[in-house]
Amino acid sequence: MADYETFQHDVLVIGAGGAGLRAAIEASAAGVSVGLVCKSLLGKAHTVMAEGGIAAALGNVDDRDNWKVHFADTMRGGQYVNQWRMAELHAKEAPDRVRELEAWGAVFDRTKDGRILQRNFGGHKYPRLAHVGDRTGLEMIRTLQDHGVHQGIEVYMEHTILALLKDGERVVGAFGYERERGRFRIFRAKAIVLATGGIGRAYKITSNSWESTGDGLALAYEAGAELIDMEFVQFHPTGMIWPPSVMGILVTEGVRGEGGILTNSEGKRFMFDSIPENYRTQTADNSEEGWRYCLGDKEARRPPELLTRDHVARCIVREIKEGRGSPHGGVYLDIAWIKEKMPNSAEHIKRKLPSMYHQFKQLADIDITEQSMEVGPTTHYAMGGIHVDPDIQMSRVPGLFAAGECAAGINGANRLGGNSLSDIVVFGKRAGEFAAKFAKENSLGQIDHGKLEIVAREGVAPFERNGAENPYQVQKDLQEMMQDLVGIVRNENEMRSALGKIDNLKSRAAKVGVTGNREFNPGWHTTLDLENLLTVSEAIARAALERKESRGAQFREDYPNKDERFAKVNTMISKAPDGSMQIRLEPLPEMPDYLKQVIEEMK
Ligand code: FAD
Repeated sequence: MADYETFQHDVLVIGAGGAGLRAAIEASAAGVSVGLVCKSLLGKAHTVMAEGGIAAALGNVDDRDNWKVHFADTMRGGQYVNQWRMAELHAKEAPDRVRELEAWGAVFDRTKDGRILQRNFGGHKYPRLAHVGDRTGLEMIRTLQDHGVHQGIEVYMEHTILALLKDGERVVGAFGYERERGRFRIFRAKAIVLATGGIGRAYKITSNSWESTGDGLALAYEAGAELIDMEFVQFHPTGMIWPPSVMGILVTEGVRGEGGILTNSEGKRFMFDSIPENYRTQTADNSEEGWRYCLGDKEARRPPELLTRDHVARCIVREIKEGRGSPHGGVYLDIAWIKEKMPNSAEHIKRKLPSMYHQFKQLADIDITEQSMEVGPTTHYAMGGIHVDPDIQMSRVPGLFAAGECAAGINGANRLGGNSLSDIVVFGKRAGEFAAKFAKENSLGQIDHGKLEIVAREGVAPFERNGAENPYQVQKDLQEMMQDLVGIVRNENEMRSALGKIDNLKSRAAKVGVTGNREFNPGWHTTLDLENLLTVSEAIARAALERKESRGAQFREDYPNKDERFAKVNTMISKAPDGSMQIRLEPLPEMPDYLKQVIEEMK
């Protein structure tokens, strides 16, 4: 048996984005020893890319806001298949988490009277997103990292976890490798928190970083946890589409929150044509009112560009499909038009949207204070993920917790912008707290060395193959296939075909060979990520097939309407004893009367 270097902690947190850092801080504060593992360097997690802001009903800009309105907005955005208890905890606790970030040193933009400023975002009734220009994620990571490094958390950077280790039913450790040298490592722990982020890299066009290969979901699935609502993948309406090298990079919703409008090749503001019935009373029906809303007029209704993301994305796809797109296959997003309304518009845009200004200037040679942007939908966020207990964040595997984008339930069929940054700190904190509690109540388990040997052998197997398949080609084929067959608009035939292709890609992935040695070898890393991407892709396709209706982010052209049969169920995916992927429909827990009443009142 090989002798691998072993590390030992009470709580091991896998992932150092906002959720992982917040969990590590909380566990450490509870007095247990904490290890924090991440694929990249500390501070470089995907959270750093978040732009628009963090949603919390602070009521600083509009004092009509409170947790009840936030809860009702989140449930409506999620089309009522959210785990209501998570949505409730999130709405109630987000303001405290934001104030805590401020107390730890986050410098949010301010109102004139010195309070945390909040901006408009799609689906939120009132201005609710605390922000730092369009670099909110950077400030959050900086703050959490600064706070965390003083707490004695042991950080293992550039380490990738390949498998979770169990003693009977309970999770007792993790096995992985350090990316620089390729050496294997064992992490023993009494409790584990998965905070590995999203799955965007399963698709060709995505706003997600290279880390988002669904590792946590696949690790949890293999360990016996269930995945919930995998069909709900959010396609953000506005990603860059030109030049090709930057395709998919996000154009924050903050642009529309600051007054940006969407137009087609005929110059028409097409979003006015498609206001859904249930949003009609909240949505402006003329440009002037929409603009007044962006300027903070409390009496005005919001512009149609700020309807939910799924709706805006589908309207954009419609314009493109019907031949009213821009030259590179998108539509126009125009913030420059506000110069008609504001004498100092260029400075205003640069101050409110500095990253967007530089992003377009440097990557596309476009000055957004003068010209409109070309944008199109990009795969952005996974509403589905690891099923956890809403209060304590533990999966059905004892000792295995999950928080942040890799966990699921709060967002239902669609997430409102800004609700992820608040989700990761609300539930990151809870996961850390309850993982520490679990660790105090349990001892270290036994490591199964036989299992270790199998994982280690599989890990190095690509070096022993003759390389009949190339890892990058298999990854590319998977991403293109998911984009084409399990994308924004879905139907049964295409998704059945996708499942066949996934089987084929699995066989090809098993033949992938890599050359060179284990020292920082990107081909090898890509090969190891492939299995996770294949697992999440299959889960998305199976869940999307099972939900025979259109709801939130899932649009089925063969079932274009909502269906009562699916109004109160979640899809649940798990691994069967024979190794196959199983899916079942699980009824939602009954919502208590006081929350039903909140929703009624807010209607
Ligand atoms: P991440 O920040 O993705 O961190 C995942 C961590 O897990 C990383 O450290 C990674 O290295 C590690 N990891 C992954 N796999 C492994 C493995 N196998 N082994 C070890 N470590 C692993 N949301 C909002 O609410 N507001 C916004 O304004 C906003 N803007 C966004 C802008 C962009 C461009 C994007 C892409 C997303 C945005 N989002 C926004 C969404 C939000 O940023 C993410 O959902 C959130 O940051 C996810 O945080 P996380 O902690 O769950 O995971």
